Amino acid sequence: MVAEARGLAAFPLARPLSERQNPRMANATLTIDLDALTANWQALNEISGETVETGAVVKADGYGLGAGRVARALMQAGARRFFVATADEGAALRGAIGPGPEINIFSGHMAGDTDMIHDMQLVPMLNSVAQLTRHLEALPGHPFGIQLDTGMNRLGMEPGEWFAVRDLAMTAGPRLLISHLACADEPDHPMNEQQLASFREMSDGLGVPRSLAATGGTLLGPEYHFDLIRPGIGLYGGLPFADANPVTHLSLPVVQVREVDPGEVVGYGSIWTAERATKVATVSVGYADGIFRHLAGKLHLYSDDIACPVIGRISMDLITVDVTDLAEPPRSLDLLCPSQGIDDLADLACTIGYEVLTSLGNRFTRRYAGGGR
Ligand SMILES: *Cc1c(COP(=O)(O)O)cnc(C)c1O
Repeated sequence: MVAEARGLAAFPLARPLSERQNPRMANATLTIDLDALTANWQALNEISGETVETGAVVKADGYGLGAGRVARALMQAGARRFFVATADEGAALRGAIGPGPEINIFSGHMAGDTDMIHDMQLVPMLNSVAQLTRHLEALPGHPFGIQLDTGMNRLGMEPGEWFAVRDLAMTAGPRLLISHLACADEPDHPMNEQQLASFREMSDGLGVPRSLAATGGTLLGPEYHFDLIRPGIGLYGGLPFADANPVTHLSLPVVQVREVDPGEVVGYGSIWTAERATKVATVSVGYADGIFRHLAGKLHLYSDDIACPVIGRISMDLITVDVTDLAEPPRSLDLLCPSQGIDDLADLACTIGYEVLTSLGNRFTRRYAGGGR
């Protein structure tokens, strides 16, 4: 008992908060530059011109960056209309931004979502005759839009379906007609003009506001803009918006640094062998944080602009990095930084910036910079 008490005194379990909590050192920190985000929104807003409204797509929790924070920053910049994938996402967003701005739901009016759509003032983009019927029966008078399929064959009413119910739908007063381009990141792809023509055919002369362009469509030119553009990835600094400001910075804490002799191995499977005396930094991040395992052997972390190769296998929570060439042992290393953006990482992983962003780990501390608050 006495020994136990003495032990506790000698090794106090709970140190003061100030000592324990230094998130920038202890935790991987994803910094989201809200000023860069709003500058990207403004740049796309300028490209589309004064007569076209600029909305914002914040599905998948704002492409992984935090839908509430992103939306509030964009509201300060002037955005009034947001798009999410599901009613659940819409309800969460409504909680974060309050009443007023319009929240549109791409998946439309699903069975079971009626109360949420009503209570949270969500506007479903109806995708089928079944959804149209459900909506008009369950929530007569509640605002809705309609999504038209112009050839992507993913979501929305096809031409035949649309022309069959168009008169009925029009009497109920949709507030927006949208469609989505399949190949907008390839400006010369013939699908773009085909889908544009199909959208016109399905919606010309109805007098309802229209939206066809996401980020890629916005860059295709004014004939794709209609009344509202709805960019997503461009806001977050990704291609195809090549002029976007980078929005994300990811800094990872170094847990320890060791010296490894030539001939020693590092990590699971012992697949990496030192060829020289090597300083190895163990960094707190892994495949559980979205650092894909097949990036082993290809990935670098950065100390300012010096690239340090990731060596050995990528573990669930840890990776090992050759920091021999740094002047001093680093306290942290960067995965996303000016030297390596989301699309550089995407190229390495044979994917797209969208997937890099939405794979970023939930364990990272998210820190918001700028944004006027
Ligand atoms: C995701 C999505 C967008 C936004 O696309 P970006 O390429 O990220 O700009 C717009 N419209 C629909 C229907 C979407 O699914």
